[in-house]
Amino acid sequence: MRLFLKKGLGLLLVVMLLWLILTSYITVAEAAPPAKNVVLFIGDGMGYGHLTLGRIFKGNALTVDGFKYNGTVSTYPNDPVEKWVTDSSAAATAIATGVKTYNSAISVDVNKKPVETILEIAQKKGKATGLVTTTRITHATPAAFAAHNVDRDAENEIAVDMLNHKVDVLLGGGKQHFISKEQGGKREDGRDLIAEAKKMGYTVVENRDEMLKVTRGKLLGLFKMSHLSFEIDRDSGREPSLAEMTKKAIEILSKDKDGFFLMVEGGRIDHASHIHDGAVVARDVLAFDEAVKVALDFAKGRNDTLVIVTADHETGGLSIGGYGQYNFEPEVLKLQKNSIEEVIAPKLTPDNIKQVFSNYLGIEDLTIDEMILMLNAFKEKDKNPSAVVNAVADIMSKRALLGWTSTAHTGADVPVMAYGPYAETFTGHIDNTDIFKLMVQAIGLKIYR
Ligand SMILES: [Zn+2]
Repeated sequence: MRLFLKKGLGLLLVVMLLWLILTSYITVAEAAPPAKNVVLFIGDGMGYGHLTLGRIFKGNALTVDGFKYNGTVSTYPNDPVEKWVTDSSAAATAIATGVKTYNSAISVDVNKKPVETILEIAQKKGKATGLVTTTRITHATPAAFAAHNVDRDAENEIAVDMLNHKVDVLLGGGKQHFISKEQGGKREDGRDLIAEAKKMGYTVVENRDEMLKVTRGKLLGLFKMSHLSFEIDRDSGREPSLAEMTKKAIEILSKDKDGFFLMVEGGRIDHASHIHDGAVVARDVLAFDEAVKVALDFAKGRNDTLVIVTADHETGGLSIGGYGQYNFEPEVLKLQKNSIEEVIAPKLTPDNIKQVFSNYLGIEDLTIDEMILMLNAFKEKDKNPSAVVNAVADIMSKRALLGWTSTAHTGADVPVMAYGPYAETFTGHIDNTDIFKLMVQAIGLKIYR
């Protein structure tokens, strides 16, 4: 009996061992090779309506329409007051760390403790890293990948934190947070972070031509004091486009034999949506889409690069068609030459309304009601500095039948699309925290929060 038991146990052990070897072999054989490179695109405030607007404006399919794998993403934060509507920092924290947090947190949890980001994890794996944006580089979305702060507005602190993270490529605006007040910036500690960055080995560039010349090494590009221009206003000789910055970042980062992680943000889709400037939203969506094409062209020539496109939240409650009508008039928006907020409204006075509407908005038939709206806005301007901007945006949106439900963000789901290794995991309905988890899985790490 004893002998039989021993023999039985022995046999069982052998069978179990064989089983273990076999199953581990099968899992290894089944798992696809990890993605060496990850390019994550975030269209700030870019909901489904924004994509439709861009597509109609272009008159053709967007690059992002060609992604075979896509899904929907829920975006709500873990905020005690603003329960269902996230801001950019809580959403970026969720995407960068897999942890939901309160609005205005930069990669810290609800207890204000720092949480490790996908960029930090990629660095630990020896990968090169990059952040590219059309906002200040210290703004919520890029900040959440390479800084930890209890408050998104502490951009001077965030600039120091981001430099200390030794991100290989940083391209965007926000020079004001890198230089002292004496130098014309916003730093109160007298530090010159541009000089410090140079000492750390960064090449620092401040215009398009300087950027295009750099081909390797660490690169810090700060092209404006605050945000970069809206695409519609951009001086293409001086300021690089989002696509050009993306191309440069990939060119430099792809030299790392361990691969790279790059986040690219179309950061001002959100800004234009807050003020209901549809023509500017459309152009910034198209500029974002062109940047996606750059990464997709890179990924298509190989089988090791995962490209993900998503948004942090929807802004404006944008709808194609509005004001109770079954129509939309994109041609109205196509005549607009500049952004309302940064170029057109500053030119307006009560005396030149007709002339500015004709020159910049292609409107020759301003109605009496519209004229009254504008004149009232000027009267209101002392109490409400954005009254004139809002009035122009209202006139344009009504003429185009572009609908808006809010001047803030909404809790609507946003899109996610993916291409490359593990792209099929970014399908169905997921949460924004899943994007972090799926990226970690895609680069070959199994343990995640
Ligand atoms: Zn916003």
